[in-house]
Amino acid sequence: MKRFHVTTFGCQMNEHDSERMKGMLESLGYAEVPDRADADLILFNTCSIREKADERFTSHLYDARALKRRDPERVIGVGGCWAQSMKEQVFRQFPFVDVAFGPGQVHKLAEFLTSDSLTAQGFFEFEGFTGHLPGKRARDVHAWVQISAGCNMKCSFCIVPTTRGREVSRPFEELVAEVEQLAAEGVREVTLLGQNVNSYGIQLRPQPRKFSELLYAIDAIDGIDRIRYTSPHPAHMTEDVIRAHAELDTVCRHIHLPLQSGSTAILKAMRRTYDRRRYMDRVALIRELVPDCAITTDIIVGFPGETEADFEQTLEVVDEVGYDSAFTFIFSPRRETEAAEMDGMVPHSVKVERMERLVALVQRRAAERAQRFVGREIEVLVEGASRTDETRLRGRSRHNKAVNFEGDASPGEFVRVEINEATSQSLRGVTAQPLTQLFR
Ligand code: SF4
Repeated sequence: MKRFHVTTFGCQMNEHDSERMKGMLESLGYAEVPDRADADLILFNTCSIREKADERFTSHLYDARALKRRDPERVIGVGGCWAQSMKEQVFRQFPFVDVAFGPGQVHKLAEFLTSDSLTAQGFFEFEGFTGHLPGKRARDVHAWVQISAGCNMKCSFCIVPTTRGREVSRPFEELVAEVEQLAAEGVREVTLLGQNVNSYGIQLRPQPRKFSELLYAIDAIDGIDRIRYTSPHPAHMTEDVIRAHAELDTVCRHIHLPLQSGSTAILKAMRRTYDRRRYMDRVALIRELVPDCAITTDIIVGFPGETEADFEQTLEVVDEVGYDSAFTFIFSPRRETEAAEMDGMVPHSVKVERMERLVALVQRRAAERAQRFVGREIEVLVEGASRTDETRLRGRSRHNKAVNFEGDASPGEFVRVEINEATSQSLRGVTAQPLTQLFR
């Protein structure tokens, strides 16, 4: 039996695509091995969102080359956004790679492996959903569900529209049927995936659909206790989506609302299609309709042209919103993006200094916000042993907070935890008892 190994870089969509790649390979009779050195087929599912991602990946690729030198029969394959952004260059720069395929071409890997082609092949069209391939889930009770592929936005710093193509939504009924099947297999939490997840359904024909309709339809499926989704865009964070959080028990009390910058001038240069006032208006509506909702975000520091005054506006928004957590990034120019050609590049030392101030404020506000959980009993979906303390268990709350707690429970179980400590990163608690019924 041929053995394969997959290394995954990047976002949840890549984690999903890798689960589908593994499911497809197992359906072809391959077996997964935990160690790359034992694999006949060495695969990488790559990310290209930042320079660092490329550098980190290529060091892994050279490790695969060394393995292939020892056994030339091995096959090396590179999938994902980096492969798509490089296309045929992959073979020119890395001639030991046998097959390369974009995020929309995972199924072509099967074609390559079942053909007796001896030459290297690349597949870079945007067709099909990896969501149609058999999946091999990493967790029994959780499933990623790809609801759309690609993105129609034109954020000037982002390479995704280039590497994942135009936005296409999967048929509504097909998604409901997939989640019903997952529930029948024991899945209790689903995460809906799309580059721009809350614009789902706009292009569907003959009948366009709304993202909120999908949330209501999945909420009605027996067995599904939690619905999460990523990544939404503030421009599509409509009132009906926010009301779904307030009205539906299953829709988790967490909204990820990428800000990127608090300066309207920088948001314009980023082509984010909203300004500071519109963004804060969404936050106000979330606070009004779902007061206890956790809000998290993405922020870029040092975008070309960002002045100290622009950055101060980002700090003002962070202070005002009080995010439960934030992913913060130093701007890095990506090839084939508009921002990479812009004037006004911010010196690296200035970016680093701003990042330090931003992280300090994010953590202070997140720690303040987290105190609202102290003394409360919250429902936690158990994931396994704590990563920091083997005497404890870890899980996630409906607010997407990591919870480390004392207790006796198994992965996939819902437990009730009384929180006695909260930091910007996680919550700590005591006493875990299996829930007789879920509470929100
Ligand atoms: S919405 Fe903007 S940042 Fe997000 S994937 Fe699309 S282009 Fe990139």
